[in-house]
Amino acid sequence: MARLDRFARQALLAEIGAGLWLTLRYFFKPKATLNYPYEKNPISTRFKGEHALRRYPNGEERCIACKLCEAVCPAQAITIEAEPRADGSRRTTRYDIDMTKCIYCGLCEEACPVDAIVEGPNFEFATETREELMYDKQKLLANGDRWESELAKQIFFYMFAAVLLVSACMVITARNPVHSVLFLILAFLNAAALFVLAGAAFLAMVLVIVYVGAVAVLFLFVVMMLDVDFIALREGFQNFLPLGLTVGFILMAEIGLSLAGFEASGTMRLAAATHRVAGMSDAAAIGNLLYTRYLYVFELAGLLLVIAMIGAIVLTLTEGVQPRRQDLARQHNRAIADTLTLVKPAIGAGIAPLPAKEDVP
Ligand code: SF4
Ligand code: SF4
Repeated sequence: MARLDRFARQALLAEIGAGLWLTLRYFFKPKATLNYPYEKNPISTRFKGEHALRRYPNGEERCIACKLCEAVCPAQAITIEAEPRADGSRRTTRYDIDMTKCIYCGLCEEACPVDAIVEGPNFEFATETREELMYDKQKLLANGDRWESELAKQIFFYMFAAVLLVSACMVITARNPVHSVLFLILAFLNAAALFVLAGAAFLAMVLVIVYVGAVAVLFLFVVMMLDVDFIALREGFQNFLPLGLTVGFILMAEIGLSLAGFEASGTMRLAAATHRVAGMSDAAAIGNLLYTRYLYVFELAGLLLVIAMIGAIVLTLTEGVQPRRQDLARQHNRAIADTLTLVKPAIGAGIAPLPAKEDVP
């Protein structure tokens, strides 16, 4: 019976079927794995990773060679030598950390009175040899310079994001439409700065040129130069209130859902990791693709735009719609008397309406 059962399972490919069914079931489930290194888990703010020596903003080393970190290190991984400098200050001449001994306890960081030695967020420093894990002072200072800029990036991210949110709110709450457009331009500029921070300089450039340079400024001119009666426009406000509230509710729900899964640092890391092409800026990488693989499509798009532009000009040049056409011959041949009438009104009498002269464009 067991043999028959085994034969039946083999003949009917039951194992293969079960395997495929299992694959299919997991295909639609949320993924438990990440596509490393393009996706990374967020790390705790208390994470203790690769060591770094920090500097002051003027470039001077923070470390004052007090050797507290060396004394407190339970793994005896730190070796410091120091001597006074010509200006009397005391600085290290040697600062080594044997990373193969380090147990990442963070005691050196805790002991440092000037926040010179820190354990940064970097955990990707695997090497091929043990020697590469013997960190000297230059390596530690270079780490510090690298992570200091990452820290500055994070601060700038929150600053630009805050200004972007405030200006976006002002766009919809400002009573004066001109102010709204100015806040809109400010929002676009801050969004462009965020794109630059995320490493998408090309997107930032497009946002500034297209939306700030063209759309927003054009809108500003329209608002300022056309005599739009905003009081009359606002009269229908009550009628559209239910529709506006519905759209607003949907937008708020979308923002809420986005915020529920938001992680600033993780998002930035992902954005920075996914766009990079080795040794190339994103603008260069896009140009490289556009002018090679997508050259014909790109040229076709340019041709379509030219045709659309010519079409727009031709459509606006229809007879009858254009009331004033320039006729150079008529302009040159006209006499002063055809267009000008000299009158000498009596005092207090005013000027009676004159018959219209021929209007030669
Ligand atoms: S983290 Fe701990 S073990 Fe590592 S160098 Fe600092 S004190 Fe020593
Ligand atoms: S890193 Fe900090 S604790 Fe260590 S020697 Fe320098 S100043 Fe002292």
